[in-house]
Amino acid sequence: MREFVKLTASFKLDGEIPDIFSLYKQIVNELLDYASFKNISSFKKLKAERYYELREKYPNLPSHYIYTACQMACSIYKSFRKLKRKGKAKGDKPQFKKDVIMLDEKLFSLNLNNLFVSIATPNGRVKLKLIHRKYHERFRDWKVGQAWLIKKDYELFLNVVFSKDIEVEKPIDVIGVDVNENNVTIAKLNGFGKKVTREKVIRTVYFLKRRKIQSKIKVGKTRRKLLVKYSGRERNRILDIYHKAANWIVEEALETGSAITLENLKNIRKKIKYSKKMNGRLHRWSFRKLQLIIEYKAKLNGVPIIYVNARGTSSLCPICGAKLSPNGHRILKCKRCGLIADRDIIGAWNIRLRGLKQIDVASPVPAESLPMKTEGGKETKHHKMSSLLER
Ligand SMILES: [Zn+2]
Repeated sequence: MREFVKLTASFKLDGEIPDIFSLYKQIVNELLDYASFKNISSFKKLKAERYYELREKYPNLPSHYIYTACQMACSIYKSFRKLKRKGKAKGDKPQFKKDVIMLDEKLFSLNLNNLFVSIATPNGRVKLKLIHRKYHERFRDWKVGQAWLIKKDYELFLNVVFSKDIEVEKPIDVIGVDVNENNVTIAKLNGFGKKVTREKVIRTVYFLKRRKIQSKIKVGKTRRKLLVKYSGRERNRILDIYHKAANWIVEEALETGSAITLENLKNIRKKIKYSKKMNGRLHRWSFRKLQLIIEYKAKLNGVPIIYVNARGTSSLCPICGAKLSPNGHRILKCKRCGLIADRDIIGAWNIRLRGLKQIDVASPVPAESLPMKTEGGKETKHHKMSSLLER
C-alpha cells in the first residue's frame, strides 16, 4: 500500500533577518481590506487585481512575498467569511496581527545536510542556522513544500511542510490505545502495557500554583509574567510525557507490525467527571493533543492509524459483550462471564477489538495470556499489576 504523507516539522532558527514581518503584515492587511470590500475569496482573482500594483508599491521586496501574501489573505478571508456566517466573527473585515510569513519555494531553500536555510529578503539572501533536533533527520529524503516563518517572543521559527510517498505495509495486527488522566494503556496480541503519566497530578499542582499567584498578586506585569511562566512549564512537562508515551506506542506497533487504534474523541468530555473548581483545568485536558503526537510519529514511521467509535469502550465486556458493573476502585466486573479487570485494560482491549474488525484480521485476544508490563512512574496499591486482571 502506498500512502501520500504530509507532515509539518518545526525548526528553531539561529541568526537574524531584516524585519520583513511588519511590512508583510501591512501587505496582507491591505489585501484583506480589498478582498473584504470586493468580496473576493479566489486567489487567482485577488492576485490578478492586486499583484502588479503591490509590486510597484514595494519594489525592493522579492515579488513572491506578494504572491504568498495573496494566498494568505485569501485563506484568512475565507475562514473569516465562514465564521461570519455562523455569527462567530467580530467586525466586518478580518485583521492579520501575527508575525507569520508564508514562504514558497522561491523564497527559501532548505539544506538539511548542512543545517541551514536561506531566505530571500529585500537585502538579498540571508542564511540562518537550523537548530537541529533528532527527528529532523527523518525528513532528509522528503520533498519540501511551503513553509512559514514565525517570530515568537523575539525568536525565529520555520515550519516546513514535507511530503513523501511512503510504502505502508498492510498491518497484521492492531494495538488498542486507551488514554486517561493518569495513564496510557495499550492492548496488543500478547497482553497489555501501561505507562503512568500522572497528568492529573501535574495539572492539579500547576492549577493550584496559578491560583496562589492570582490571590497574592492582584494585577500587573509580574502577575501576568508568573502566570505565563507556570503555564509554559506545565505545557512542557505534559508535552514531554506525551512524546515519551507516543514513542513507546509507535515502537510497539513497529515491533508487531500493528496499526494503532485510537478512540474518536468527539465525546471524550463525557468521560471526564467535572467538578466546578477544576473547570479551568479541565479545559486544558488535551487528549487530542496526545493523539496528534501519536499520529505524527506513526505517519513518520509508516504505521497506519485507525480511529474507532469510543462509545461503550469502557463499559462493555470485551469477551462476551455484556454490560460491566463496578467492582471496587477502577475495577470492573462482568456478571455474565466473570471477567474482572481494571477499567483502563477494558478500554484498551475493546478499542483493539474494534480496530481488528477494521483491518480484517482474525486474531482475537487470547484469554489466558495477560502479563502486564509497566514502564515509568510508581504504582499505587490499587494498581498493583497482579490485581489488575483476575479471572
Ligand atoms: Zn463478559
